[in-house]
Amino acid sequence: MRDITFCHPELQEKVKKLLSNCKSKGLIIGIGECFRTVEEQEALYAKGRTEKGKIVTNAKGINYSSHHQWGTAFDFYRNDGKGAYDDSDGFFEKVGEIGKSIGLEWGGDWVSPVDKPHFQLPQWGSTTKKLKQIYKTPENFKMTWKGVDNMDTVQEKTQYSEAAENIDKSKKLYNYTLEVPDWARLTVQKLLDKGYLKGNSKGELELTYSMLKLLVINDRAKLYD
Ligand SMILES: [Zn+2]
Repeated sequence: MRDITFCHPELQEKVKKLLSNCKSKGLIIGIGECFRTVEEQEALYAKGRTEKGKIVTNAKGINYSSHHQWGTAFDFYRNDGKGAYDDSDGFFEKVGEIGKSIGLEWGGDWVSPVDKPHFQLPQWGSTTKKLKQIYKTPENFKMTWKGVDNMDTVQEKTQYSEAAENIDKSKKLYNYTLEVPDWARLTVQKLLDKGYLKGNSKGELELTYSMLKLLVINDRAKLYD
């Protein structure tokens, strides 16, 4: 995915800076891949292993091993008409130096595989081990980026609330009618009124998101009428 707004806010700032610093030195770059899903990362990992081609990454997708999956990395390419990866004049080295001067870690400094068109935020280390230890999943990590209120684009807002919602969906218990989302509230109220649904000894309903969905489907099928 080539949309930098799906990445960490600090990375977005650094991308802006990199683009303008490079431009002022006559180095025209474009921003390539930013955020990667598990599937996209798995497909890359297969290259040179179970699929044809050269090995391009050591990071498996399934265990969130690439910074691209955490929104903390992006790739760039040459955009001055000389070929996206033409490095005959040390183009990538020059961009690498500029990136490092604004606080990015450059993949060109890595040993295996050398990844010249790659930058990432350095504060969690070269691998994603630390991110995994602290946040477990990219979704949890995203929730720490910033609150919905100071988000500047609609896209960021959607992305944030989707991440928040996914966590809700898997873990949250809906204990009171007021906590139940609008689309399920009438159904839950009906079940309580009819005595089909009873809370625990503390009066908590202990309903999960998937239970709510099922109850609403059953209600639409008129099972509770
Ligand atoms: Zn990369």
